[in-house]
Amino acid sequence: MPAAFSDPIWRKPQTAPAFQSELSAGSTLDAVVVGGGIMGLSTALHAARAGLSVQVLEAGAIGQGASGLNGGQVIPGLKYDPEWLIEHFGKARGEALVDFAASTADAVFDVIRDEQLAVPFTRNGWIQAAHTETALRAAADRDRQWRSRGADVKLLGRAEIAAMTGAKGYLGGWLDRRAGVIDPLSYTMELARVAAGAGVKIAEQQRVVKLSKEAGLWRVSTQSGAELRAKSVVLATNAYTDGLLPGLAQTIVPLHSFQIATAPLPADLAVSILPGGQAVSDSRRILVYYRKSPDGRMVLGGRGRMALPSSAADWAHCERALLRLYPALAGIAIEKRWFGRVALTPDHLPHLHEPEKGLLAVVGCQGRGVGLMSALGKRIASYLASGDARQLPFPLSPIQPIPFHAFRRVGVAAMITWYRMLDAFER
Ligand SMILES: Cc1cc2nc3c(=O)[nH]c(=O)nc-3n(C[C@H](O)[C@H](O)[C@H](O)COP(=O)(O)OP(=O)(O)OC[C@H]3O[C@@H](n4cnc5c(N)ncnc54)[C@H](O)[C@@H]3O)c2cc1C
Repeated sequence: MPAAFSDPIWRKPQTAPAFQSELSAGSTLDAVVVGGGIMGLSTALHAARAGLSVQVLEAGAIGQGASGLNGGQVIPGLKYDPEWLIEHFGKARGEALVDFAASTADAVFDVIRDEQLAVPFTRNGWIQAAHTETALRAAADRDRQWRSRGADVKLLGRAEIAAMTGAKGYLGGWLDRRAGVIDPLSYTMELARVAAGAGVKIAEQQRVVKLSKEAGLWRVSTQSGAELRAKSVVLATNAYTDGLLPGLAQTIVPLHSFQIATAPLPADLAVSILPGGQAVSDSRRILVYYRKSPDGRMVLGGRGRMALPSSAADWAHCERALLRLYPALAGIAIEKRWFGRVALTPDHLPHLHEPEKGLLAVVGCQGRGVGLMSALGKRIASYLASGDARQLPFPLSPIQPIPFHAFRRVGVAAMITWYRMLDAFER
């Protein structure tokens, strides 16, 4: 695979390193965090602010996972609306989950403000665009549920959504003004910078290969031969989960998300395309999501094939989606193509596990982890600091591998083909 396909539009020539890669020597740590994405860094930063000693160990470079590769859409909420959450989790846990879901975008914008992160962002909302009457009814229901709770949301008619997106083919949609867009790689690197400033040690190129318990402490061993001791370990490896904790990788379905970025748009087109700078996801089964970058490119993503991409042709479905929405962009060059992995769980909710005391794992970002993992990291840090499980928005659950996990690729490929066909019929 050409190296360029793992290089997002967000990567800029680095001026100064955000932190010095460093391994703790000797003393027992309060926590070792495995994985240096948004989840791991948010946990580490908030834990350090709560007074804990923390080491982050990252298998590669900080930001090389989904956190540095994503679309930068900061969307609050979970896949489910408030009434579903209350019905399924009961009143007390359900209401707490609704409050948590409502707060996930705040977790990003608050930390940008409070920690003075140098991250390009716009907070003008996210549009869920409806291309069928069914999707429009779902948007109206979502609007009713969130509006009754005081959320800053709004239903959009056909003319309004056309003016806000400049895109063809939508019947209407839903605007959630709590949302926004960021440069996700800057955000990840800035989290690392302030975490290091708060005392967190961060070491790159340190794949954790073994966890064992010794006299009530966790011994964490890395591929390079380093050994650390800690009271707690947090696995924040999400879609890149390997075999470190038996069974964990089999609890998720990792999917590829592919993205393209155009050349900066000419001024005459830029004024009519997303003039307010919102993020958009559309209602198709095979979701397409897009936004403009701070330097005026269209950045669009969607599901991609499960095999590793081998040529630009593997992004053709993204280019077709872009031109279906914006025929005027025909002839504008696609300057970048890249992809990354997202982790789905069968119930579309993140899963928190603690199979043994002091060993925590968080998986299942559902492709919407910028806000979710920022907020969850903060809660996990509170749990580490207090030991109070009420800090956790989701219940701790046993690790339950998905049956027939080895066949997931065949199943996912078949599902994507079928959904694409249904989407094509509804065009
Ligand atoms: C192309 C794409 C577009 C997306 N768009 C959006 C979007 O617009 N909005 C949104 O909210 N979400 C989006 N997402 C999802 C979002 O990026 C993720 O939910 C989020 O970044 C997950 O963060 P994380 O820290 O949990 O995982 P990651 O950022 O993936 O970090 C996990 C890290 O763990 C490391 N690791 C794995 N195993 C080990 C080990 N044994 N030892 C040490 N380190 C290890 C990996 O190297 C990796 O760096 C997108 C994802 C992709 C791929």
